[in-house]
Amino acid sequence: MDPRTGAAGATRVCPHCKTTILESSARCPACRHYLRFDADASTSIGTQEATTALQVEGTIRHPSEGGAWEYSVVLVIRDEAGKELNRQVVGVGALFGGDERHFSLAVEVVPTNDMRRGPNRRGRH
Ligand SMILES: [Zn+2]
Repeated sequence: MDPRTGAAGATRVCPHCKTTILESSARCPACRHYLRFDADASTSIGTQEATTALQVEGTIRHPSEGGAWEYSVVLVIRDEAGKELNRQVVGVGALFGGDERHFSLAVEVVPTNDMRRGPNRRGRH
């Protein structure tokens, strides 16, 4: 079920990079272009400042011995029951002797005034 326009979780496609982003975003988190020309987009649900609720970082370094390492960066989002909501391969590549890659995951949350319960929240209360 797609969230309706103006509701928490409503999405749109970034006109610059075509990534699906929050309708309320003033700036695309993927390509970092500013998008806010329609000021109503976020004020309708009272969007506040985004804060980083989770951040994980790590580095992998090839030990300079042996053959190259291929890697896949897999991102999985699950709900409170463990049900998979989204699984994506964000990037793939290879590390050759001595190469290093730094990985960073950030989850930004934006408080809104939307008090509706989501479609899966019935009977929880
Ligand atoms: Zn973009």
